[in-house]
Amino acid sequence: MKNEQAILLTGGAGYIGSHTFVALHEAGFAPVILDDFSNSHPAVLDRLERITGRAPVLERGNVLDTAFVEAVLRRHRIAGVVHFAGSKAVGESVAQPLKYFGNNIGGAISLLRAMEAVFLGPGSWAPPTLVFSSSATVYGDPATVPITEDFPRSHTNPYGHTKLVIEDMLAAVRQAQPAWRVGVLRYFNPVGAHASGLIGEDPAGIPNNLMPYVTQVAVGLRPQLSVFGGDYPTPDGTGVRDYIHVDDLAAGHVAALRALSSGASFTVNLGTGQGYSVLQVVRAFEQASGRKVPYQVVARRAGDVAQCYADPSLAKRVLGWQARKGLEEMCADAWRWQSGNPKGYAT
Ligand code: NAD
Ligand code: UDP
Repeated sequence: MKNEQAILLTGGAGYIGSHTFVALHEAGFAPVILDDFSNSHPAVLDRLERITGRAPVLERGNVLDTAFVEAVLRRHRIAGVVHFAGSKAVGESVAQPLKYFGNNIGGAISLLRAMEAVFLGPGSWAPPTLVFSSSATVYGDPATVPITEDFPRSHTNPYGHTKLVIEDMLAAVRQAQPAWRVGVLRYFNPVGAHASGLIGEDPAGIPNNLMPYVTQVAVGLRPQLSVFGGDYPTPDGTGVRDYIHVDDLAAGHVAALRALSSGASFTVNLGTGQGYSVLQVVRAFEQASGRKVPYQVVARRAGDVAQCYADPSLAKRVLGWQARKGLEEMCADAWRWQSGNPKGYAT
């Protein structure tokens, strides 16, 4: 894919989308954000302008509105789409499954229909090119680690189920019409923030994920961290995950779009290949921030697996991409964002 091409980022105002916006801008692409701000804050736009020196192009609206998405694709002569938009809270997906099937699967169908009409219809200027945000959750409880892409897939909650269904839908669409170019990226655990401290993760309500919970304890918003389970079969008994700096993840999307320009579709893990336990993260964070993070070990959280980390070698081969930033940098950057913006974008 050549530079200056317009790339549509559905959900581009969110955590991963906003960092990918910066990475694409720096790589010479022209990213366009489509977002309804259902799980993000419009203040991110001003922050993106401060980082890139240019006001972001925004199309405010819902990806479920197929006619709107189609008009956006045409208006900006979009060359490729990265589909971040969706709902992502595992617990909420158990309580409100229809919200997840509707927004995630419905959103993907709407986007695919719009892309089909534009890129496979008369007057098309590009092949249909899509990068999809999948997740390591599609591996369920892996039999062994590290995880390669050919591991069996399963799901333990409606959120994970939607990722699995969308992966299958994309495979079927590609089989029906080989012109499609599809990159499925299975993210492991994105953490950290842009080094400027201007953009970062801003969860609504009580954070579900470890790193934002840790940073909120460190900044004094919450009294202590609950460590979910101290009796896993891991070196220190706490759960092990593959934390990846969100900037590395963002770079993976640039690499994916470039790889798709040569035509081949792929499914790859985006992780570092290194697992860290909850207590290792807490210690690294304390070191990086100079703050204590009081914690208490409590019962396991339902649905959690003991260990989950990637074999990222396929991404290196296919995309020429690998993660570069270590745990120390992830913690330092997460802390810079949280301490500079104690209440997130509403600060
Ligand atoms: P996020 O919630 O910060 O970003 C998603 C964005 O999509 C938000 O800005 C939200 O307002 C928007 N959105 C949601 N539904 C929409 C709709 N119908 N129309 C238009 N906009 C809509 O989430 P994120 O952490 O940036 O995740 C991005 C993607 O990556 C999601 O698909 C998520 O499932 C996936 N993913 C995230 C993680 C993670 O830990 N953050 C891990 C694996 C996969
Ligand atoms: N975790 C924890 N306390 C929290 C949040 C998470 O101990 O408040 C643990 C969780 O059990 C897992 C790890 O931290 O072992 C990463 O959890 P997260 O929710 O961030 O990611 P995921 O479970 O989706 O991999």
